Amino acid sequence: MSDVYTPANHESSKAPFVAALKSLGIKTVGLPTEGITQQINMSRLDHQEYDYLIIGAGIIGLSVARELHVRKPHARVCIIEKEKQIAEHASGRNSGVLHAGFYYTANTLKARFTRDGNRRLRNYCYEHGLRINPCGKLVVASSAKDLEVLEELKQRGDRNQVPLEWVEESDLHKIEPRAKTYERALFSPSTATVDPREVCCNLYDELRQAGVAVHTGVQYLGQEKHHLRTSAGIIRANSLINCAGLYADRIAKEYGFCKDFIMLPFKGQYLQHRGSQPPVRTNIYPVPNLANPFLGVHFTVAVDGSVKIGPSAVPALWREHYSGWNAFSLRDLCEVGFHEAKLFARNSSGFRTMAWSEVKKLRRKSFTQQAAKLVKTLADDDFDTWGRPGIRAQLLQRQTGQLIEDFILEGDSRSLHVLNVVSPAFTCAFPIAEYLVDRLEENGQSKASR
Ligand SMILES: Cc1cc2nc3c(=O)[nH]c(=O)nc-3n(C[C@H](O)[C@H](O)[C@H](O)COP(=O)(O)OP(=O)(O)OC[C@H]3O[C@@H](n4cnc5c(N)ncnc54)[C@H](O)[C@@H]3O)c2cc1C
Repeated sequence: MSDVYTPANHESSKAPFVAALKSLGIKTVGLPTEGITQQINMSRLDHQEYDYLIIGAGIIGLSVARELHVRKPHARVCIIEKEKQIAEHASGRNSGVLHAGFYYTANTLKARFTRDGNRRLRNYCYEHGLRINPCGKLVVASSAKDLEVLEELKQRGDRNQVPLEWVEESDLHKIEPRAKTYERALFSPSTATVDPREVCCNLYDELRQAGVAVHTGVQYLGQEKHHLRTSAGIIRANSLINCAGLYADRIAKEYGFCKDFIMLPFKGQYLQHRGSQPPVRTNIYPVPNLANPFLGVHFTVAVDGSVKIGPSAVPALWREHYSGWNAFSLRDLCEVGFHEAKLFARNSSGFRTMAWSEVKKLRRKSFTQQAAKLVKTLADDDFDTWGRPGIRAQLLQRQTGQLIEDFILEGDSRSLHVLNVVSPAFTCAFPIAEYLVDRLEENGQSKASR
């Protein structure tokens, strides 16, 4: 039976290479035989049938399962997650900021979802007794040119009905004594911070209690004609929902979607404050460069009041390139390296300039220098510990060389794929899930009427 997965199918001539990497302590991803032969439990899910199979237990997969369960309590919903725990990637490694929704132009999904997502996730935290820090956020200017961008952000906020307040330089100390700005700043009172892992774990507990099957340590491997292959056996599902984060593009391509895009991973690093007194009590951001999707190095105040600066946006060379050679993938290195080199050579979308300035942030001093521009004084020696990095699943438009800003949803009646789920998708998780289940219902109806 050639279409049934067996560990033996994964034996290949590259096995010695993988073994050699492992002997050097390097975990590999995307290479034949890796991990799968050890983890496999062929009987665990074999020949199970579901109405919906969700790939990935990050915030998006969990929220989609929750939305499906609310709307269709009798549907058979299953999530598979390749890691042993949920939220091991972006959903557990982000800044935990519930963004307000004033960065985005009104015609985008991000603009719609961020404002509503912020309100809904805040309510969710209050209802479930999860920690939340309603500390707000300042966007500070460094020059007259920045004031024009602040003006644009205020207009975008107004159009999106997001509360925003102008703060004169002389009044800034009332919100944040350490912050500094050029003439004036914008204050967003609805920005808050949460513990992203705590939120995901609560969703997971809710789902388990509701009878939704959540299988961790189970990897999606591919589709066959009538079934789906996983590392724990074959599954049949009426609909597949791809919420695989850094791997969503690859799975989507298997179904004929995501054709125009390439995934470029960008690593975000943080420096954690270690002093006894937190240096700030409000999130402080610089004025962003609206031409690229990243918000610049900023101060984030966590739920417990601790402070970190970051994240950077350094082009990574493979999808799980968190540190050193960990999770090395030769396939990723070839694909990603090729496209990054091309962008670098052509300086498309200002990639070369951005990459240089980001790579400099690998040095602690130049990282803290960026943050120091936002405050009057900074004891940069207090920021001496690198935090847990996260990697953004950023899509690049193949033809234009543009980094895509908005979320993308592609699919048909068989499969739906959530793509370019970059920041602030954590904030937007509930509206994204609602939108996606609406599309599933529409697809189901059009299928039924054919
Ligand atoms: C550094 C950084 C900072 C950020 N800060 C913020 C912020 O402050 N506020 C905000 O709103 N957003 C923020 N974001 C964005 C936010 O974290 C992400 O958009 C969001 O977490 C994406 O969730 P996800 O569920 O799509 O992806 P993920 O959390 O990556 O989940 C995808 C899951 O799919 C699993 N998976 C992949 N392939 C397979 C397979 N073949 N089989 C089974 N499982 C598979 C993975 O293991 C993973 O657990 C930040 C992101 C980064 C990287």
